[in-house]
Amino acid sequence: MSIAQSILDIAIAAAEKESAQRITRVNVVAGQLRGIVPLQFTFYFGLLAENTIAGGAYLNLEITPIRGRCRQCEETFTVEEYRYICPKCQGEDIQTVGGTELRLKDIEVE
Ligand SMILES: [Zn+2]
Repeated sequence: MSIAQSILDIAIAAAEKESAQRITRVNVVAGQLRGIVPLQFTFYFGLLAENTIAGGAYLNLEITPIRGRCRQCEETFTVEEYRYICPKCQGEDIQTVGGTELRLKDIEVE
């Protein structure tokens, strides 16, 4: 819920900077490791946005996959189903290099 609040705060700040009347759409990029449940997130966002200029805005949530990097052969790959195994050398010493991001991509205003 606090994530939804901070996304909303950033969106409103950005809209106010552009002297927008209303936010119609909010595009958010969230890594899979954030464990965001889209329906729940959309629900909280809508709730928090009520009575703000983002009220009724459409929230578009783009979930990015987990990316791993093999420490043995430097291969980077998408981690499927939390299997941290290198597809190239079968190494298991994997560093997570993607999937934790969370950011407001952009907003649409009117
Ligand atoms: Zn490898």
